[in-house]
Amino acid sequence: MQHSTVSPAALGRLVGLRTGGRPVLSLYLNLDPSLAPHISDRRIELDSLLCEAATQARTMGDRDGAHEIMRVRRFFVDERLAVNGARGLAVFSCETDGFFEVLALPDGVAPAIHLDERAVIEPLVEMVCPERWCVLLLSSRASRIFLGSRDSLSEIQHVFDDVHRRHSQGGWSQARYQRGIQKEIDGHIRQTCELLSERCRSEPFHHLVLGCSLELRPRVERELHPDLRERVEGHFEIDVERATAEQVYGRALPAIEAQESGRERDALDRLTEGLAPDGHASVGLEETLGLLQEGRVQMLLVARGYTAPGFVCPRCGRLDVEDRLCSLDGTAMRPHKNIVERAIECALVRSVEVLIMRGHAGELERHGSIAALLRY
Ligand SMILES: [Zn+2]
Repeated sequence: MQHSTVSPAALGRLVGLRTGGRPVLSLYLNLDPSLAPHISDRRIELDSLLCEAATQARTMGDRDGAHEIMRVRRFFVDERLAVNGARGLAVFSCETDGFFEVLALPDGVAPAIHLDERAVIEPLVEMVCPERWCVLLLSSRASRIFLGSRDSLSEIQHVFDDVHRRHSQGGWSQARYQRGIQKEIDGHIRQTCELLSERCRSEPFHHLVLGCSLELRPRVERELHPDLRERVEGHFEIDVERATAEQVYGRALPAIEAQESGRERDALDRLTEGLAPDGHASVGLEETLGLLQEGRVQMLLVARGYTAPGFVCPRCGRLDVEDRLCSLDGTAMRPHKNIVERAIECALVRSVEVLIMRGHAGELERHGSIAALLRY
C-alpha cells in the first residue's frame, strides 16, 4: 500500500469528500516508538479501536458504518504496522466515494476512531507544513539525532563509536595516541554531519539545534553542510549518551521559542504595517473569513486556543459568523461549534501559510484573535 504524506493536497482531498450522507471512517494510530515500541502493542490498539467502533455502529444500527469498519479491518490483515520514518498512521475510508487513503504521519498522534459525516482531520492540521526541528547531539564518541515539531522530539538515530577504547588497546605512545584519537573524532564528526545531510533529504527539517560541548561546537559547525549550518538556531551542553528525549527537548526549547518569537514578531510588524490606510491586512473573524474564502489571504494569524462558534453551508462548505443563507447558493447554514478550526483547514487547503501565535498571542487578541496578511 502506498502511503501519502500530510500535505495541503491531502487535506483538500479529505475536505472535498462527497459522502452522500454516508459515514466516513477516520482512524488514527500511534507508531511513535517511544510510546508504542512493539508491533504487537499497535495491533492490540488497532483491534480495540475497531471493536469499539463496531459496537457503536451496532448499537446505532449503522450498517454503512459497520461496512467501513470491515473495509479497514480487511486492509490491515496484510499490512505491517510499521512504516519507515512514520510516527503515526491515519486511515480514511468512505466507500460511497470509492475513497480509501492512508497517510503516514510525521508526528505521534492520540489513537482514535471516528464514524462521522465528514473526515475528522483536526489532528492533521497541526502537521501540515509546521516548522520541523532537528536536534543533533554529539560527543567525541557518540551521536544522536532527534526530529520533530516545536511540541515534541523523537530520536531517529543513535551512533556509538568507542574511539578511546579501541585506541587504548593499541599500546601506542601518548602523543601518537592523542593524535590518533583527534583524527578519529574528526572522522566521527564528519560522518555524523554527512548522515545528518542524508536524513535531511529524506525527512526535511527547517531548524537545527546542536547539543555538544563548547569545545566540539566549532568543529561540528565547520563540518556541517552550508545549507544546514545556516539552519542552526542554538546550542546547549548535555550528557550526550544518557540524556532522555524529554531532557533533550527541554534543553532545545529556549532556542525553539526564541526562533518562534522572532517569526511572530515579524508577522505582527507586517500586520501593523498592513493596517495602515491602503495596507493589505485584515483583523477580526468576519472580515478575515470573507477574505480567506475569496482567496486573498497570504498568511493567516490565529491566537493559540482561540475558538468561536459560527455557521457552515452544508452544500458548499462556506463559512460565516452569522446565521443567514449561504451567499453562494442560498442554502440554510448549519451551526458549527468552532468555526476557527474550519478557517484554519480552509487556509491549509488553499496553501495559505498559517501562524498560530503563542508567545505574542496577547498582542493578536487585541485585534480579535485572528488576522490576515493579504496578497493584494
Ligand atoms: Zn453554500
